Amino acid sequence: MKNLRIINGRVIDPANQRDAIGDVFVSDGKFGASLPDGDVETIDATGLVVAPGLIDIHVHVREPGQSHKETIASASRAAAAGGFTSIVTMPNTSPTADSAATIAWIRAKAEKESCVNVFCTGAITKGLQGEELAPFGALLAAGIVAITDDGRCIQNHEVMRRAVEYAGMFGLPVMDHCQDVSLVGEGVMHEGEWSLRLGLPGWPRIGEEVIVARNIQLAELCQSPVHCQHISSGGSVRLLREARARGVQISGEVCPHHIALTDASLAHFDSNFKMNPPLRAPEDVEAIIEGIADGTLTILCSDHAPHAAYEKEVEFDQAPFGITGLETEFAIFCDLLVHKRNAISLQRLIELYTTEPSKLLRLDRGTLAPGAPADVTLIDPELSWTFEKSQSLSLSHNTPFDGHSWKGRAVRTIVAGETVWSL
Ligand SMILES: [Zn+2]
Repeated sequence: MKNLRIINGRVIDPANQRDAIGDVFVSDGKFGASLPDGDVETIDATGLVVAPGLIDIHVHVREPGQSHKETIASASRAAAAGGFTSIVTMPNTSPTADSAATIAWIRAKAEKESCVNVFCTGAITKGLQGEELAPFGALLAAGIVAITDDGRCIQNHEVMRRAVEYAGMFGLPVMDHCQDVSLVGEGVMHEGEWSLRLGLPGWPRIGEEVIVARNIQLAELCQSPVHCQHISSGGSVRLLREARARGVQISGEVCPHHIALTDASLAHFDSNFKMNPPLRAPEDVEAIIEGIADGTLTILCSDHAPHAAYEKEVEFDQAPFGITGLETEFAIFCDLLVHKRNAISLQRLIELYTTEPSKLLRLDRGTLAPGAPADVTLIDPELSWTFEKSQSLSLSHNTPFDGHSWKGRAVRTIVAGETVWSL
């Protein structure tokens, strides 16, 4: 492996309270404290931010089973182009990632074909059916970092209680897609003025909030961590804030679309604005931004959910939920949270994508400390650019952000000392 020095950049390494102009050294795929011996490649990072490699904990890679939408290889290329050195896969594949064999298959394929690190989650219940628990011990031994039934939500509270208790014994974080099926029914968009105007069935906030409340109670009862995925409702933010203040081991994540867009975007029935949970009202956007700013919401991620054009190009209520996001998420959050709203600092933005996910999933990443794997993202926080979906490296182009412009972008992605993508 090559040795590397990255010079003259603004090094932001929240794990080590470092924010200063300086150099970063890499030897044999790991960070070093000083200039390595032998052949050294030099990268001049003048004017750029040198950050630990970004981590996205919520990615649907669609393999095994749906490689017409995305593959591990294509998802990894899109991740690299978004500045991500590590992604965490969701288990709603075909077959479901509820057995050690499927996890082993994904990890072996990633080892061969992915240009970024791939960490796996396993299912909470067999076949995501919400009934019988998956074998957590065998899944952990196969290398998972968390469990989730993402895409589905366990409706039976007793099953969820046993899942949280049992996962706690293994030290496995439980992540949950919060959706009460009886309250949401056939809902396809936020229940409110726009669903009424458009005549589409509503997906009310309460459908998320009751499950967030359930998860808070279970995390407290079982003294074990639960993480709420893709928070969309202002009410959920208030519940999380109150629970975290009491010391409950509960956390929440935010996807860029939930603060960059509202339900009014659905006026044209474009299914590239259809995702689950749905885009909500301006007051939810404000509450979520406040939650990010005050530390209630600690993780940012994409919920990258590729679908083929022919699957999305159907009537709105028939179209599948989900949008792509790996290549646009960092820019959207940087533009909106740092530049436009001044809600958080650039340093905090990097923390939300590095130390926070590392802490939640206990990854040996998200730091520039000597000895750690040399994953680095070079960022130009002032670069203005326009996203063209025709240029996307994902196999699917179901994004609502085609033609959107932002300020801030990753410009080079380095995994274990090797550049895997650069602008
Ligand atoms: Zn989900």
